[in-house]
Amino acid sequence: MNLHYTPYLLEFKHPFGVSSNTRTHTPTVYVRLEMDGVYGYGEACLPKYLGESTEETLTFLKQVKLLFEKATKLEQIQEMKDELDRIFPANNAGKAALDTSYWDLKGKLLNKPLYSLFGIQKSDEIVTSHTIGIDEEKKIEEKVMEAEEFKILKIKIGTKDDKELIRTLKKFTDKPLYVDVNQGWTDLGFAIEMSHFLSENNVVLIEQPMPVNRIEEMVLLTEKSPIPTIADENVKRLSDIANLKGVFSGINIKLMKCGGVTEAFKMIESAKTNNMKVMLGCMAESSCATAAMVHFAGMADYVDLDAPCLIKNDPFEGINYMNGRITPLDSPGIGIRLKSIDSLFE
Ligand code: MG
Repeated sequence: MNLHYTPYLLEFKHPFGVSSNTRTHTPTVYVRLEMDGVYGYGEACLPKYLGESTEETLTFLKQVKLLFEKATKLEQIQEMKDELDRIFPANNAGKAALDTSYWDLKGKLLNKPLYSLFGIQKSDEIVTSHTIGIDEEKKIEEKVMEAEEFKILKIKIGTKDDKELIRTLKKFTDKPLYVDVNQGWTDLGFAIEMSHFLSENNVVLIEQPMPVNRIEEMVLLTEKSPIPTIADENVKRLSDIANLKGVFSGINIKLMKCGGVTEAFKMIESAKTNNMKVMLGCMAESSCATAAMVHFAGMADYVDLDAPCLIKNDPFEGINYMNGRITPLDSPGIGIRLKSIDSLFE
């Protein structure tokens, strides 16, 4: 078994603005697991807000490489993966890359796409939302036009001007909206009022309305809100879900938070058992990590997997966006390939 990894800088097509800063690039680290000349790929995407650096991720992978390269069978990798949390408590993005590369390799060796390895039905209708950055009125109009092919738009809100922003947006589109408050509301009364206002304005869900420590207020908001509340910053891994039942209506699952495909699947199952909605999200990853999540779309209530559309220099290909839909992936493994086989790891 051979494990290679390489850092890479993903470049945005347009600088990506959030309330605190504007980013032009996102560091990522690609992983390649090889057995008998077959390659499995994975990705650790590392936007600053994740709190895991490229250096930490490379150090982690260097240690895991020593471990993984002792393996001669895929089952041994499976066992080693199960041990990683015990040895390395952090490094969720690095773990996500390793886990994804394992499943990609396994799928290729067995000639099966990822959804089939997990016993999931292929979803033929994968509609993803598309995030548009918030700006002055003229720019909002332009961005709505640029996002014409997408059926659902997602916007970041979370200030006292939220109503005004939604009213401005509504001048240019009547598409359903997802809003991500990113913990921006601190007053319960305001949050409840906003949930009604948003519901009347074609918003279908509210992501992370309040700060992570406002559990009791979130219970009340979820009770009173006419539309679902979805945890993002409040949920990272499987073990978080039990504490969120009754607090949020659903959870946003992201590979870089949860540490891989294996855990993402368990989280979907746990959310369903707990009667919670499932949203599949991403950070700023390329086609590599995003593709893995696409295979679970059939089990999700909401799909927010538009990151590859925003990237200029994606080294992988295989995900296609057509009229706001993601074309289902049918190739073995996670279903993507390197654009140029020699370019990344050699
Ligand atoms: Mg979010």
